[in-house]
Amino acid sequence: MLISALFFKMIDISNTSSNQQHTICKPISIRGIGLHTGIEVTMNLYPAKVDYGIKFIRKDIKKNNVIEALWSNVSNTKLSTTISNQNGTSVSTIEHLMSALSGLHIDNIKIEIDGPEVPIMDGSSIKFVDLIDQTSTQSLNKRRKILKVLKNIKVENKDSSVELKPNKQFSIDFEIDFPSKLVSKQSCHLQLVNGNYKTDIASARTFGFERDVDILRSNGLALGGSLDNAVVVGESKILNSDGLRFKDEFVRHKILDSIGDLYLAGAPIQGYFLGNKSGHHLNNLLLRSLFSDKNNYEYI
Ligand SMILES: [Zn+2]
Repeated sequence: MLISALFFKMIDISNTSSNQQHTICKPISIRGIGLHTGIEVTMNLYPAKVDYGIKFIRKDIKKNNVIEALWSNVSNTKLSTTISNQNGTSVSTIEHLMSALSGLHIDNIKIEIDGPEVPIMDGSSIKFVDLIDQTSTQSLNKRRKILKVLKNIKVENKDSSVELKPNKQFSIDFEIDFPSKLVSKQSCHLQLVNGNYKTDIASARTFGFERDVDILRSNGLALGGSLDNAVVVGESKILNSDGLRFKDEFVRHKILDSIGDLYLAGAPIQGYFLGNKSGHHLNNLLLRSLFSDKNNYEYI
């Protein structure tokens, strides 16, 4: 069996431009379709105050339309991460936007959206990153709260697993092994230092297999999916005419997803994350396990 591996180290959250909380400087408007619903939405991002956190507001729903971006609100992890409030109002495929917010150290932001799913853009987080970069970010008058992992936490399911371990900074190791020659052949070792999120991770696109497309669509998934917003892996070749953006784009995208899912902790994590053939479901179980015992973590 071929094994694909990627080792990421040293995403240094302690060495940011500032350890203050951040928000965006000006509103940002984004229009696009959802990967799974195919529904076109407008999403507006607004600056927010200290300790506001990250909140989604469903503008197409009049009451109880606020959904906090927190691990405890995750309600579905089938192929994407969905969060819901207590009234069942939800927003799906939040992970790429969450990843961009994590990568750019945005702590506080209000996200208004007039439909059920965050736009997929080009299948990566680079459009979100570029738009936020263009608008620029501002530091706020309070320090960031950092979630320090104190104990080893591991969640397994068959041959997949995720782990968090105490560490001096946020580090990631990730390993994938898909039953496809085109994916499983890749192997990579990279080190990320502060600021490399944009260059090494943000443009890695989501991916799927040509053989799965009909089944996904018959289950109401990937209705907005196309070669414009996903890498599609055929039996013998990548179907996108421009090919891959990175030789190991698949595992980089899994890192992108994990960074987004882990940001649902509600704070940047100081710890060492190890992902092995894992995805949204295990990422959420890991956070649930972390928060199940106050001895597992502390805020610094
Ligand atoms: Zn993804």
